[in-house]
Amino acid sequence: MHDMLKPFFDGSYEPHGYCLLWNPGLIWTHVVSDLLIAAAYFSIPLALVSLIRRRKDLEFSWIFMLFAVFILACGMTHILSVWNLWHGDYGIEAVVKAITAAASIPTAIILWPLIPRLLALPSPSQLQTANENLAVMVAERDDALDRVREEAAQRQHAEDALVQAKKIEALGQLTGGIAHDFNNLLQAIAGNLELIAGRAGTPDPDKIARWSGNALQAVDRGRRLTGQLLTFSRSQRIEARVIDAAALVGAMDPLLRQSVGPAIDLRITADPGTCPVETDATQLELAVLNLAVNARDAMPDGGTVDIAVERGVAMVAIRVTDHGTGMTPDVAERALEPFFTTKGPGSGTGLGLSMAYGVAQAAGGDLVIDSMVGRGTTVTIHLPLTGQLPAANATATLSTVTSQPVPVPARKMILLVDDDEVVRTAIEDMLCNAGHQVTAVPGGEAALAAFKDREYDLVLLDFAMPGMNGAQLAGHLLEQRPTQRIVFVSGYSDSAAIDAALNGKAEILAKPVDSQLLLDTVAAA
Ligand code: ADP
Ligand code: MG
Repeated sequence: MHDMLKPFFDGSYEPHGYCLLWNPGLIWTHVVSDLLIAAAYFSIPLALVSLIRRRKDLEFSWIFMLFAVFILACGMTHILSVWNLWHGDYGIEAVVKAITAAASIPTAIILWPLIPRLLALPSPSQLQTANENLAVMVAERDDALDRVREEAAQRQHAEDALVQAKKIEALGQLTGGIAHDFNNLLQAIAGNLELIAGRAGTPDPDKIARWSGNALQAVDRGRRLTGQLLTFSRSQRIEARVIDAAALVGAMDPLLRQSVGPAIDLRITADPGTCPVETDATQLELAVLNLAVNARDAMPDGGTVDIAVERGVAMVAIRVTDHGTGMTPDVAERALEPFFTTKGPGSGTGLGLSMAYGVAQAAGGDLVIDSMVGRGTTVTIHLPLTGQLPAANATATLSTVTSQPVPVPARKMILLVDDDEVVRTAIEDMLCNAGHQVTAVPGGEAALAAFKDREYDLVLLDFAMPGMNGAQLAGHLLEQRPTQRIVFVSGYSDSAAIDAALNGKAEILAKPVDSQLLLDTVAAA
């Protein structure tokens, strides 16, 4: 076998040129053609490999590799054809041809089944169509987005309109509720005054005291009502100070007991000196009072109401718990809305909880309702705990007894300026009855004239007056006598304007003014 194959490799056979009779034309045609073919066959695999390396995502790249090997082998056979024109190494040529055959057969076989898969690849025109479809989809999506935006804008518009409608509805409720309540109060005041007027000739001090007491009580209720309303008005003068919530609630004990009535067993748990918070004391008292009244209203047959003031890590909680009717989920959801009430006209204004919520919010806290129908309700006001301890002991402003024994006041000279004759004469009479000397004038010009004539211990000023308003008049008076003590007797809603005009230094008594407070102020002048 070895002896048989040997001549194929040792060059013992004649070179191929012999077959061509060493005809130069034929030989060189073969040489040039074979070399050109070989050069082309060597360049094609290089091109394929560079393509594969640059297009990493090329599908079926292995078939390109196979093709490259096959073509490379073909190139080699042509080189050997040239060599064997002059040499007889047919064995080597046979080996190279065998390798070429080995590479060509699988390439040829594999290529056929691959054709459907290659056809399945998108053609450039298909890609173009797909791109166009995509562009159409994108445009449709953009249109849809525009429509969504338009719808959102319409919904916003509808929501705005709804809010507006709700405001109007609330306003209607408010006006109705207030008119009703005030009519009742006016009725009470007028009725009692008529009774007093009927008895003017006959001295009957007991009855007159009772009737005027009734009338004053009605005025007091009206004052409380406007106080609640004004919590919603920005012009309300809120005086946030650091106070002790526990002491404040503790001091409200008599007021709360009187408000909830004898059928309610009221239990107050508060440890004074432990709960400093920063808020308006009067507002917080009103809020607690509202919660207590709500608890009472929820228990028409009486029961226990617990009021607890607790100090937490960062918050103080004021909890008012009853075991009354509780609230359904829809009531609980709406309970904080201003003017929302389930109580009949005249008995509910719907301002209690919303006012308490407003107080909590203004102090950076919150109000939480926890209620179950038939089981009862806990309403909790959370207020942020402040670092400092209260500067002075918190005094309950609503519940302080106003008729404290005061020393007989010294006679004071007072200039009273108010354009409303009824108010002016009422205040003038009250001050004269207390022994003071009053010069009462209806406006700025008259006041300036009266001010030139003599000195006054105190000037009492209304704010809203035709011509010169109270703040302007105060400015003129202070120009003449910078140390003159001036107190405004004015509606709450003017306080912001007065503060603005007098740099917040003005002293203001809110109308309707409590007579004792007015006399105390005068006495202090
Ligand atoms: P008002 O007491 O004038 O109705 P509020 O704002 O104080 O107004 O309360 C709103 C509503 O919330 C009440 O009408 C009532 O339905 C409900 N509510 C408030 N507190 C309680 C409570 N403790 N138990 C049951 N329901 C309550
Ligand atoms: Mg209430």
